[in-house]
Amino acid sequence: MASFIDKAKITVKAGKGGNGSMAFHREKYVAAGGPDGGDGGHGGSVIFKGDNSLSTLMDFKYKKKYNAENGEDGKDKKRHGKTGSDLYIKVPVGTIIKFNGKIVADIKTEDTTFVAAKGGTGGWGNAHFATATRQAPKFAKVGLYGDERELELELRLLADVGFVGFPNVGKSTLLSVISAAKPKIANYHFTTLIPNLGVVDAGEGNSFVAADIPGLIEGASEGLGLGHEFLRHVERTRLLLHVVDVSGIEGRHPVEDFNTINEELKNYNMDLMDRPQIIAANKTDIMTDSGPYEELKALAAEKDIKIFEISAATGTGVRELVAYIASCLKEIPIPEVEVEPITEALYTFDEEEFTIKKDNEVYVVEGPYVTKLVSSINFDDYESLSYFQTNLRKKGIIKALENAGVKEGDMVRMEDLEFEFIY
Ligand code: GDP
Ligand code: MG
Repeated sequence: MASFIDKAKITVKAGKGGNGSMAFHREKYVAAGGPDGGDGGHGGSVIFKGDNSLSTLMDFKYKKKYNAENGEDGKDKKRHGKTGSDLYIKVPVGTIIKFNGKIVADIKTEDTTFVAAKGGTGGWGNAHFATATRQAPKFAKVGLYGDERELELELRLLADVGFVGFPNVGKSTLLSVISAAKPKIANYHFTTLIPNLGVVDAGEGNSFVAADIPGLIEGASEGLGLGHEFLRHVERTRLLLHVVDVSGIEGRHPVEDFNTINEELKNYNMDLMDRPQIIAANKTDIMTDSGPYEELKALAAEKDIKIFEISAATGTGVRELVAYIASCLKEIPIPEVEVEPITEALYTFDEEEFTIKKDNEVYVVEGPYVTKLVSSINFDDYESLSYFQTNLRKKGIIKALENAGVKEGDMVRMEDLEFEFIY
């Protein structure tokens, strides 16, 4: 049985910028040459891109970490380090990307790209810092870390019309007769685990995409059955076709079924109440008692919902239904997904890389990263110093200090460096 993977959690990590080189020109018989350390290359970014040939997020179930290439360190003779390659991650069109629970991107088309993690800037080599008064700068900048984030991917089908209704009412049958989709059809419940998509040709310029949303039952909105897994696809449709079995063959009442499904849609997302609906009263070919159907008709009239009497099996009424759906769609705009830009500063927070202890009133930050950073900075140089601060922030050390209770004016120690904490 195929399973439908349409949610995944992954980590993306952009490349680190290469370190600038600290080198001096050397030539035979020349006593001391000028600074000639090249710049580090920028780190590669992680970029998402839509791809129509993909239809699930299956790949992300197996591979969870995506890293772009680091930039190369700068070299002597002013040679720059190579820029790290960007990493493109292809996702099915219709994928939504979430960060910290917020939607940050909607991959709507094949042309949609989204930079999810930006590569770190490469550090300048010492050749960059030579001035008339500072002819032998003994420092270079370290490369900045790239962004690192945990993201959630969610695939929501992009369909114009969603077929909703209880299992076995004929949704898949209807989709198969109006489109080229070949959904599984069987006379038992829960046959379809994959939402089927079909392109419906309703004459020139009138085609639309229909999705069969399976598994809706009472309690689906609370996670009962499989319906919950599919409900998010309903959110992106413009119109709902509510398929109801009016034959009475399964001993169900159409009005009850109709109300139950609507209740589930409402419980899942209040907005779905306002989604335009059309009713397809199906299986009229085997309807023996028209009483319950008349009740549904009355309810539809009361709610001002258009109702079509059809038989997906024989084709009765199907053409009229399709034409009506197409005409409705012309009036309904495509809903936009609200996307919020990522505003949070990123903190690469690797606790193994540094620790914060309190020694009397002094906050002591220790770890291999700190050692490396402190040793690469020239504290007499303003530019170098501001670079130090940027790195502390980016690495999450400032944040960690704040979490540890540091306030303005408190003393902080890193290696042999002690300074006052100021914002
Ligand atoms: P779904 O679960 O809503 O997708 O329902 P299916 O399309 O799988 O149909 C369930 C059963 O009802 C199948 O055996 C179909 O052949 C049958 N069916 C669907 N539509 C009709 C119809 O209009 N008339 C009759 N007699 N049977 C139908
Ligand atoms: Mg089905």
